[in-house]
Amino acid sequence: MARRPSQCFNYSGGSISGCYTGSRFKSMRILIVEDEKRIQDFLSRGLESAGYAVDVAGDGNTALELVHATEYDLIILDLMLPDTDGLSVLEKVRNRKSSPPVLILSARDAVDDRVKGLELGADDYLTKPFAFVELLARVRALLRRGQPTPERLQVSDLVLDCIRRKVIRGNENIELAPKEFSILEYLMRNRGRPLSRTMIVEHVWDMDYDGLTNIVDVYIRHLRSKIDDKFPVKMIHTVRGIGYMLDAPEKAEKPVERQVEQSS
Ligand code: CA
Repeated sequence: MARRPSQCFNYSGGSISGCYTGSRFKSMRILIVEDEKRIQDFLSRGLESAGYAVDVAGDGNTALELVHATEYDLIILDLMLPDTDGLSVLEKVRNRKSSPPVLILSARDAVDDRVKGLELGADDYLTKPFAFVELLARVRALLRRGQPTPERLQVSDLVLDCIRRKVIRGNENIELAPKEFSILEYLMRNRGRPLSRTMIVEHVWDMDYDGLTNIVDVYIRHLRSKIDDKFPVKMIHTVRGIGYMLDAPEKAEKPVERQVEQSS
């Protein structure tokens, strides 16, 4: 469910991540390290149409040459490469003075591989086969890291104050349990982007997600009953096959700054 124009992507918090063409903004550049032609094409086509500049390396040595020559914003790294193991590529990339975030994409889903990859400094790990929309959500989350995070989030008439831990919709104060607050904050920071249950669990519970993804549905039900049920405009949307997304039509937006201040 891509609601925004694919050529230009922006973060609703205000900072623009990149535009593909005809813009003064530089495209984010992604290196795909993958030897399988089919996956190479699938990834580069998808990421290019999402507005990213993409380079492809079919083996580890080419990847390292490209990393030395070019400044990447993100590397997507396959583990089983024809000339070397992806983990040793990761190690070399991490030994450089500045190194971009690395998303490991691998058919190896053994816990050992996952742990080793993360220990060596990978930022995220996705197992094949994967849905492109899940990969894109993770890519965007990684690219957004390091950007300043606003203290106050607003989507339409829903306001979340990250410092005072308050939530207001319209004129109404909404009481949320800590996990509900964290999920809502994560959804609002990623306004308009589908987030998988796995991503939500990993973000909010900060632990291995096995067997925990159903809990997300339970918490989303609670959240909906508090922030959506009695309002005509629903903000939490189910994205079939993926998870959830928070968004609302722009035109309903009006500043509610004073209400937050008064309520604190
Ligand atoms: Ca491979």
